[in-house]
Amino acid sequence: MGSGQVTTSVPSGQSEFQDRRVTVAGLGVSGVPAARALRERGAIVTVVNDGDDERARAQAAELEALGVTVRLGDGAALPEGTELIVTAPGWQPGKPLFQAAERAGVPIWGDVELAWRLRGPDAAPWLAVTGTNGKTTTVQMLASILKAAGLRTAAVGNIGVSLLDAVLGEEEYDVLAVELSSYQLHWAPSLRAYSGAVLNLAPDHLDWHGSMDAYAADKGRIYEGNKVACVYNVADPRTEDLVREADVEEGCRAVGFTLGTPAVSQLGVVDGILIDRAFVENRHKNAQELAEVSDVEPPALHNIANALAAAALARSFGVPAQAVRDGLRAFRPDAHRIQHVADLDGVAYVDDSKATNTHAAEASLAAYEPIVWIAGGLAKGAEFDELVANSAKRLRGAVLIGADRALIREALARHAPEVPVVDLDRTDTGAMLQAVTEAKRLARPGDTVLLAPACASMDMFTNYNQRGDAFAAAVRELGA
Ligand code: ADP
Repeated sequence: MGSGQVTTSVPSGQSEFQDRRVTVAGLGVSGVPAARALRERGAIVTVVNDGDDERARAQAAELEALGVTVRLGDGAALPEGTELIVTAPGWQPGKPLFQAAERAGVPIWGDVELAWRLRGPDAAPWLAVTGTNGKTTTVQMLASILKAAGLRTAAVGNIGVSLLDAVLGEEEYDVLAVELSSYQLHWAPSLRAYSGAVLNLAPDHLDWHGSMDAYAADKGRIYEGNKVACVYNVADPRTEDLVREADVEEGCRAVGFTLGTPAVSQLGVVDGILIDRAFVENRHKNAQELAEVSDVEPPALHNIANALAAAALARSFGVPAQAVRDGLRAFRPDAHRIQHVADLDGVAYVDDSKATNTHAAEASLAAYEPIVWIAGGLAKGAEFDELVANSAKRLRGAVLIGADRALIREALARHAPEVPVVDLDRTDTGAMLQAVTEAKRLARPGDTVLLAPACASMDMFTNYNQRGDAFAAAVRELGA
């Protein structure tokens, strides 16, 4: 795919987009600000959108008032004369629009690529994070650490503030903590982060990317052109392979994070202390204490790994050790991510509704013992054998809900036949109260009832937030 033809020498005072014909694929979170930004820079903008609902019409009216052409219900055809496509990240590469663009030699950028190109000459560098799980948490930890160091920053990208808004807005930043999805990376060919991290790699979104290799390759783009550090997960060798394959700037280093004792050029853990052996003078002899494991909330192992990755990126930007500790202490995870809801009769109730795939659920199941596990929902093609086999010994019992619960029940029968299972034949929203009631019955003092569904929520709930809220409401009702 070509990527750079539009950026050529531009007379001063004139935008490189002046009079260029740009097609924006997809209205919505990224499409509307992209169309507006391009129009403001003089581009002739056409938006194409598959859907034609009320919301799309309202957005279309807003853009048309600015002189943008909008084609609703027609996302397939390439508008005549298109010189560049700016796509919403979720649009799949195989779409006819993109095939036509490739035949015509038209470059395709995503919202991240556009933001990267539109940022000013003195723009803040990007510390970028991707991975199958833990992105939001890590980026928020990173922003908290950078703030503790007195830097002007924000957590942006796939969360909260969009990158375009961060790059084009009034607010000035010293550095940005950027969350990037595999889709966004796919469409960001010229992105060059200051330092980048791939937290982990497990099969996810394979229908979109086509294969695990393609998914990994898109994640690996985060390392392209890094200046100071490519941060990888020692426990996930594929992340290190991606570092090896990347073309980076002279002097950029590979820095690993590990839950074990760190080797040279790694961050790790020794006797409950987070240790840096990468960003210290004379790293062959010296190490720097950063924080204590107890400074990290929640103190689950996977979350210590997130904290180490955040610390590595911050340290690559010259942040002092003290700020890592202060930033980690100040950080509070978002709701529904291993959130302690209540203790009832000596049993802890924990909401990890955000564990929407097996890799995430396995991480949270590893954090407790014994567990009464509430799981199920939409499996998205996942298999549960590995998850159940690795977690079986921690399970006091399981309560299954949702459309694809039979898949989990069968995996439990294969790998944990002695674990009692309650299979709730319901997919209505109210089933959560019954699920928590059954879990309470199975639990004994000292146990944890853990909602870590390993599945998407949309068969029973609007989203994982509503699922987690239903869990918390049920716990409160039983405790009242
Ligand atoms: P993302 O933004 O990548 O979806 P989040 O930080 O929102 O990640 O965490 C989503 C879920 O993934 C959490 O609720 C937790 O179950 C799990 N998780 C978080 N960090 C990790 C990790 N490093 N490895 C495995 N699972 C994790």
